Amino acid sequence: MKVLRTVDQMKALSLEWRSRDYIIGLVPTMGFFHQGHLALMDKARSMADRVVVSLFVNPTQFGPNEDLDRYPRNFEKDKYLATEHDVDCIFFPDAEEMYHPGFQTWVEVTDISQGLCGAFRPGHFRGVATVVLKLFNIVQPDFSVFGLKDYQQVQVIKRMVEDLNIPVKIVTHPIIREPDGLAMSSRNAYLSKDERKSALCLYNAIKIAENMVKNGCKSRAEIKKAVNEHILSYPYTKIDYIFVGNPETLEEQTVFDKKILLALAVHVGKTRLIDNAILES
Ligand code: AMP
Repeated sequence: MKVLRTVDQMKALSLEWRSRDYIIGLVPTMGFFHQGHLALMDKARSMADRVVVSLFVNPTQFGPNEDLDRYPRNFEKDKYLATEHDVDCIFFPDAEEMYHPGFQTWVEVTDISQGLCGAFRPGHFRGVATVVLKLFNIVQPDFSVFGLKDYQQVQVIKRMVEDLNIPVKIVTHPIIREPDGLAMSSRNAYLSKDERKSALCLYNAIKIAENMVKNGCKSRAEIKKAVNEHILSYPYTKIDYIFVGNPETLEEQTVFDKKILLALAVHVGKTRLIDNAILES
């Protein structure tokens, strides 16, 4: 497995692969791999001749008071895991390589970036869309795999690809969970033992909402109320949002369609966790 640190090296390798008509799959990540990341790599492996994993803790998607500096990192372990999962290349640039002095071009996906996480993390999706488009231009993949754990991110990227006619297919992967249901996340490493217990509130609240909908509940207000009460019954929790609405447009809606998105962002202590599910009646 190759580890490439510069844009020129990555572009050259990609060009060589493309000249041989290889199908290239890209998995963008911020590293500190867990089973969620590895499942995305396996998915890419099953579809591609060559798999590139980008590992870049992208500073432009972090707000000034967020966890950029303490974001967990372990490159040696990541390298080992990527090798085990038959990845062909890790693209591992540093911030200066991706953002040269004088950098001033941004991708803004407007409406769909506004609500949910966008409302609490101003500029976050601008940073995400910009870095993902840069990665697409550098790696030139045929397809790129994203996890549905970051549901809004997937919708933002899909919108960008459609609007800007980007020739990359977006492949999604379901959320990978711990045995007790907690969605895997690099940020779970921040949780103390007690906070880890409280972190289950997101998954358990989703289960409650799923049961309500299965039993015929059609009221977004009732679902939100039950989810809110459940989450706040755990210590250390503070809710950013409980969203119940349209899975594609991410608009809250009055008509309860067959499929409705429940998306949650909750602080457990100092750690911000997100989770989501499509509720089907
Ligand atoms: P990150 O390193 O957190 O930026 O995540 C890189 C990719 O892995 C993104 O597409 C995420 O949506 C995806 N991902 C992270 N956690 C999970 C999970 N638990 N299940 C599925 N995909 C995930």
